[in-house]
Amino acid sequence: MAYVLGLRCRACGKRSALAPVHVCADCLGPLELEYDYEAIAREVRPEQFERGPVSMWRYRALLPLADDAPVVDLGTGFTPLLRADNLARALGLRHVYIKNDAVNPTYSFKDRVVAVATSAAVGFGYRVLACASTGNLAASVAAHAAKMDLQSYVFIPADLEPAKVVNTAVYGTRLVAVRGSYDQVNRLCSEVGDVFGWAFVNINLRPFYSEGSKTLAYETAEQLGWKAPDHVVVPIAGGSVLSKIAKGLREMRDFGWIPPGRTRVSGAQAAGCAPVSRAFHSGAERVSPVKANTIAKSLAIGNPADGDLALRTIRNSGGAAEMATDEEIVAGIQLLASTEGIFAETAGGVTVACARRLAAAGRIDPDETVVLYITGNGLKTPDAVAPVVAPAREIEPTLEAFEATMAGAVA
Ligand SMILES: *Cc1c(COP(=O)(O)O)cnc(C)c1O
Ligand SMILES: [Zn+2]
Repeated sequence: MAYVLGLRCRACGKRSALAPVHVCADCLGPLELEYDYEAIAREVRPEQFERGPVSMWRYRALLPLADDAPVVDLGTGFTPLLRADNLARALGLRHVYIKNDAVNPTYSFKDRVVAVATSAAVGFGYRVLACASTGNLAASVAAHAAKMDLQSYVFIPADLEPAKVVNTAVYGTRLVAVRGSYDQVNRLCSEVGDVFGWAFVNINLRPFYSEGSKTLAYETAEQLGWKAPDHVVVPIAGGSVLSKIAKGLREMRDFGWIPPGRTRVSGAQAAGCAPVSRAFHSGAERVSPVKANTIAKSLAIGNPADGDLALRTIRNSGGAAEMATDEEIVAGIQLLASTEGIFAETAGGVTVACARRLAAAGRIDPDETVVLYITGNGLKTPDAVAPVVAPAREIEPTLEAFEATMAGAVA
């Protein structure tokens, strides 16, 4: 059965019925989903998830969908949680895990949030799905619209990585490349949404969308044998996935599904777009917008919608916020690939590079169990590493030619 109750304003607390809206009618504060937590604690046992589908939908009871709502199933979620001992050694840590969300259907964690938003949109009767995207949302929205036979409009900054454009266009969406930054694309989409009345997954459906990220926390705990990690490192763009991983962990502790205690939540940003990390280090209460300039385009949101919430979440948990230069991001991608055999996009490079900085600064204790969230696939941003990887040796198709290159190589 569905346990979702309705929407509640994060600022003034006013409750409202489930609807495709993202701001409070009274104070314009952000809206959050509410559930009947007492009923969940009474009626749901974590073991029952283990009999569910091998996807994020095994946690459907904890998502904001009515009983009879259709769900869009591309097979998203239940991605591998891998012990990363080689990477741990390189970072000077002992218990590191990678949550590899690069292997979702459209190769990023965005499939989790879009799966929930699309299901909600269909339930509300929408026929057109849309989004403002920094790249990964684009492909995911296009794919989910295709699966549900919806029309879709995807708005991207015109300077997006070519691989992400092709990765989106292939699903047959209407792709709109806007000459401007992501923040300008997002502003335009708010206006388009008002005029056209479409389901913008990360605007009017944002409360539903962002709940999808809680499944990252549920899966991590289940895969650790219903335990929470001591520390998580999560990339930040709009600040939603970080906040929702914390929410999922909090829920499981409240339900008594995982032992009491706390998980430190640390945030990872690119130095070229680090509004949350800068606020963290300066001691500011609120996040100030920045102008983004980084190779980590999927994280290039200068004015993050959930930035203040992410900042509060990090501080309250005892975590930290770090940032990594473009060079460190590329090195982070290479380090993960060469130690664990996982090719991440630039956002993954940010996470690894920030984990490295946090470990070096003693912000991550060597004995903590740490989970690094790898949220996107390296094939989305091959150009980031192309200039630094070793080139192939080209030879004639003869044994002599090969032996000659071997002789030249320092073994
Ligand atoms: C969107 C995105 C993020 C961050 O998501 P927010 O919830 O907006 O903070 C992280 N990694 C990748 C690869 C993304 O596409
Ligand atoms: Zn309000």
